[in-house]
Amino acid sequence: MNKIFIKLLSFLLIMVTTSSAEAFAPSPIRFEVSFREPQAHYADIKMEIDDVNGDYLDVKMPVWAPGSYLVREFPKNVEGFEAKDANGKALVSKKVTKNTWRISTKGVRDLIVNYRVYAFEVSVRTSFVDASHAFLSPTGIFMYVDNQINRSAEVLVNPHPSWNKISTGLKEKEGHANTYLAANFDILFDAPIEVGNQDVFHFTAAGVPHEVAMVGGGNYNKERLSKDMAKIVESATKIFGESPNDKYVFIVHNYHAGGGGLEHLNSTVLGASRFSYGTENGYKSFLGLVAHEYFHLWNIKRLRPEALGPFNYDEENYTTNLWIGEGFTAYYDNLLVRRTGFYTEDLYLQSLAADVAAVENRPGNQIQSLSESSFDAWIKYYRPDENSLNSVVSYYNKGALIAMMTDIKILHATKGAKRLDDVMREAYNTFYKEKGLGYSDAAFKALAEKVAGTSLDDIYDLVNHAGSPDYNKYLQFVGMELVNLNAGYETPDLGVKTAASEGKLIVQSVVRGGGAWDGGINVKDELIAINGYRIDAAAKELDRVIQASKIGDSVNILISRDGMLKELSVQVRASKTGKYAFMPIENATAEQQQLREKWLAEQ
Ligand SMILES: [Zn+2]
Repeated sequence: MNKIFIKLLSFLLIMVTTSSAEAFAPSPIRFEVSFREPQAHYADIKMEIDDVNGDYLDVKMPVWAPGSYLVREFPKNVEGFEAKDANGKALVSKKVTKNTWRISTKGVRDLIVNYRVYAFEVSVRTSFVDASHAFLSPTGIFMYVDNQINRSAEVLVNPHPSWNKISTGLKEKEGHANTYLAANFDILFDAPIEVGNQDVFHFTAAGVPHEVAMVGGGNYNKERLSKDMAKIVESATKIFGESPNDKYVFIVHNYHAGGGGLEHLNSTVLGASRFSYGTENGYKSFLGLVAHEYFHLWNIKRLRPEALGPFNYDEENYTTNLWIGEGFTAYYDNLLVRRTGFYTEDLYLQSLAADVAAVENRPGNQIQSLSESSFDAWIKYYRPDENSLNSVVSYYNKGALIAMMTDIKILHATKGAKRLDDVMREAYNTFYKEKGLGYSDAAFKALAEKVAGTSLDDIYDLVNHAGSPDYNKYLQFVGMELVNLNAGYETPDLGVKTAASEGKLIVQSVVRGGGAWDGGINVKDELIAINGYRIDAAAKELDRVIQASKIGDSVNILISRDGMLKELSVQVRASKTGKYAFMPIENATAEQQQLREKWLAEQ
């Protein structure tokens, strides 16, 4: 299907979903963003709304940022909301919900809203303003008119006088400096804006111009990054056969200890550690992050679960499929780093073994399934607490392993003719390009089975039930096996994770099923003495005594809990922590070896 057809299709879709009140195509909502007090972390927003009808108008701000599944309550940062008519006469307004302002319009056709947003949270999905720059994460900056999400918008950015650049995926308005256009608010809400003195460089890859806006300095090499990021872009694009964009922007926030990323329609925001580019590990993990967010261009931004678009900006949007949207993306990020040759086979296999350790060394893997983890991302994965280790599984790590097993299963079932790439491309073509819809659980499974030519019931059992997959059932197809290097060695363990704080050893978490779990040690307990000997937090005495104990022995631990001393008898048990590696099977057949080469080859 060609691009013109898609444009026509989306135009028709917009026409169909536009209410009759909008059918006359009202003028764009015009925003002007200024920075009167950047040092105090404020952005000043002016919003002009024409063609108002009715006695009142509800203006809203989203409570979350798509891609980050947590209600962040962005309206908490809004202050000074005021509305007036075009002549400057004040209009009465009041809040009617946490994110809705109701303006009494009474015949006024054109109105102006002003408000300020406090922006001082450093992350890839929250806005931040200071004297040096502004990062505008749009769902926490721009308001929209209730029921008019399809209305177009225009944004004029007035940089602070000491700033000279704007980086955003939004389309520029020709002939108007610093002015950008969005055909609707879904597009506006998916286009972060960086304003400041960022270090910008460009490269073209897969026929698309790419801009990289480096904020915060760092020891990166622009020439090397241009070449290497282009390789990642080309490799990802090859899977889907086309790029959905005519431009793309990477906004990179380099902090002392930064990380994370957030995908958008034709841009991304990456968090990196300022001086991590200088080490091979740091550099490759940055390329892995680039690959992850870029792969999202297709997987989740366009090929998406039903619930994730059109978005409801007022509340949680529930899906059981983040193991595909995020997990499959997490599988492809390092796989792309391998395909482009930045990872050797060994390094790539080590990254998969790290995923296995992250899943298998978490008791939560035995409690929560992947589909539950997706659904409850809003209240569990994104709201971790001291018990998350015991109750939550990551749809990133385990989703990546599900992708690996599916990939290998399809390679085997089709004798190397097909693999997960084919599922992703078919799914993108079918759900996004042909139907313009999100997928249901059943529809995605049916499509994947059609491509694989085999049932994927076994894979979906692993998704829908908690527990440890039989990885080797799949790995043997490519002549590999997963080995637990700790098997056969029994290491004495207390079953707590601790951290030293001001010379005190404080319990951070208690591992489900360990000695401490049954012996009654609590999170926040201070461990003072073991078997009558004072614990010196810095000297790792606790570890030493436990390591010298016999499995099955009990130790006496003196704790302080909320200022009260208590002695507990805790059994030392064998550690269940695994150390994993992928090893080749001895005497692998030629077929197994060929499939392995196909699976891991540079492309
Ligand atoms: Zn992601």
